[in-house]
Amino acid sequence: MGDWSVIGHMFVQGAFVWDDGRFLLLGPYAVEKGTSLQAIYGKVRQHSACNHEQIVIDIFGDLRQRIAPVWDVEVLAATDLFCPSGIAFVVPSGWGFPHSATGPALLSCEWQFDRYRREGFGRIREVFSVDDSQSILAALDDSKDGALRLIDEYQLHGAGHATGVGLAAKLASGDLASPQSRAVEEWRADGVGHMIARRGLHPTRASECSRVTLGVRLGIDATGSFGAEKESDVLCARMTLWCMLASGEATIEGKQLAIRDLSIALTYQAELSYMLTRCELGEDGEGIARVVDVICAGAASVAGLLDPY
Ligand SMILES: [Zn+2]
Repeated sequence: MGDWSVIGHMFVQGAFVWDDGRFLLLGPYAVEKGTSLQAIYGKVRQHSACNHEQIVIDIFGDLRQRIAPVWDVEVLAATDLFCPSGIAFVVPSGWGFPHSATGPALLSCEWQFDRYRREGFGRIREVFSVDDSQSILAALDDSKDGALRLIDEYQLHGAGHATGVGLAAKLASGDLASPQSRAVEEWRADGVGHMIARRGLHPTRASECSRVTLGVRLGIDATGSFGAEKESDVLCARMTLWCMLASGEATIEGKQLAIRDLSIALTYQAELSYMLTRCELGEDGEGIARVVDVICAGAASVAGLLDPY
């Protein structure tokens, strides 16, 4: 394998996009059964929800890892692995090229919606009260606006990862070796992402993004039935659930979760994530351990509540 670091760097800068927004990606794509040559021809659309980096600096006074923009793209033509049309998003730094820390990852919104339909919708109806599940499913609808919500939520979560010490530094130092530490980091990224949304997005959009987070975390990840990070996904979902219950943002009614006010859901998680991030920035090891202990004890106390019925 050669050294692709120059290309990786150019990708993050958006050098793969022509002046009119069009781009062509052609290269080997790893799939379960091996690698195949795939191509996507698409167009980047203007969709900048808010200035995430400035908001992070306003909140924490420090930003140690650049926030990679997520490119909202329309797929115009593609080889068989990808949907020939539809909305997708490219994360220029989402995947490492050989000898490079960064490279592109492409996620098709249609794949995501398909996965949610198969894995999540029934489960969301089981976990949440009738009103809440309707509201969450509406946020996950497979429309163009639904796709933009997915992209917003993905970008917010990624921005959350960049805060504090920064995900890259944590990966490099081996801090995320255990499923528990990865779950805390996922949970923290959601919480900080929620804070950023509250500051930078219209309240309606921010609330829709939290519905997407709730649906994905508690309706899909909680089952541990999907993805490579099953153990940490389940742990992270329990942390999310515990924050909702401990703060009174939600109660259990019958066997379902009833959320008091969806427009302020995830507030407590955001507060704790803020504390944890401040401790990271202040290199306050004791503070970090204290917050992590509280969250992990909380997650353990709700274990079983989200297990499949
Ligand atoms: Zn993450």
